Amino acid sequence: MKYLFDEQVEPGQLIEIVDGVLWLTMPLPFELDHINLYLIRAENGWVVVDTGLGTSKTKALWQTIFAQLDSPICGVIVTHLHPDHIGLAGWIADNYNVPFYMSQTEYFTARAFGAGRNGATNERDIEYYKRAGLDSTLIEQLTSGGNKGYSSVVSPVPISYTRLKHDMQLTFGGDTWKVIIGRGHSPEHVCLFNKEKNVLISGDHILPIITPNIGAYSTEPEASTLEDYLTTLPQFKLLPENTTVLPAHKLPFVGLHQRVDELICHHQEHLSALGEACHKPQTLVSLLPVMFKRELSSRNMVFAVAECMSHLNYLVVKGRLKRSLNSQGIYEYVAH
Ligand SMILES: [Zn+2]
Repeated sequence: MKYLFDEQVEPGQLIEIVDGVLWLTMPLPFELDHINLYLIRAENGWVVVDTGLGTSKTKALWQTIFAQLDSPICGVIVTHLHPDHIGLAGWIADNYNVPFYMSQTEYFTARAFGAGRNGATNERDIEYYKRAGLDSTLIEQLTSGGNKGYSSVVSPVPISYTRLKHDMQLTFGGDTWKVIIGRGHSPEHVCLFNKEKNVLISGDHILPIITPNIGAYSTEPEASTLEDYLTTLPQFKLLPENTTVLPAHKLPFVGLHQRVDELICHHQEHLSALGEACHKPQTLVSLLPVMFKRELSSRNMVFAVAECMSHLNYLVVKGRLKRSLNSQGIYEYVAH
């Protein structure tokens, strides 16, 4: 794999990757401290691909970006519903009154998450963590916060959108961008491929160095997201190996096929290790060290439990593990 740059573009600055495609970053207040965003030139302005978190800091940085552009924003595309991607989509799309593009599942899930629990009980969240084997103090900590998290960092999502579908062609400024849907990291993640320029905007579906989080969260505990991911990765090996890949995190790179193989291999290794550890009955919590070598903060615990659950669901569906509920209401997994 080859990186096209040595370091991240500074927040507030623009770098031209190829003619008509610009790269910028926005800061994130997490361990992963940045997100890459892209601008595509169209006839009448620039189309934004992903937007950063909905914070005043990101808004101020966007203002400095807008001031550097030779023409206005004429569209907003969001690859998927996660807050660092959709955060300011509504703010930008509604301010400029321009089309807002998303896939259908991502759009409506974003609308639902923005609305929160809407008065429903959080008992199902509690049950999800209980079945994973977490202790009651941690469960209380992870489930008592209400559901304000999403809308506190996502500006109101526009109330109408243009639906993106797999294989759809979008034309901007004489260039054609093909929509390729990836699943697993999020339900209907949009990637964009420009054949003429040989450029893939991969969002969070394909990342260098780090692996996209593949989780089964409390919203859908039985989700087979790892299967979704492993079945929607190989299609990217049909694109040229020398494609320039523009990911949402870390640096733009060349080496798409190698990265797809590495991501598949990474999950296969985790599946084998989990399968092996289950020669005796195990709970999800007891299996976390098999997948994660470092100490987990409570924020990371949410992702770690979901990632482990997704792998265990995969092994159960494939018949490699048997799952049962023990007398304390905790799932136990054992090899078949
Ligand atoms: Zn994401």
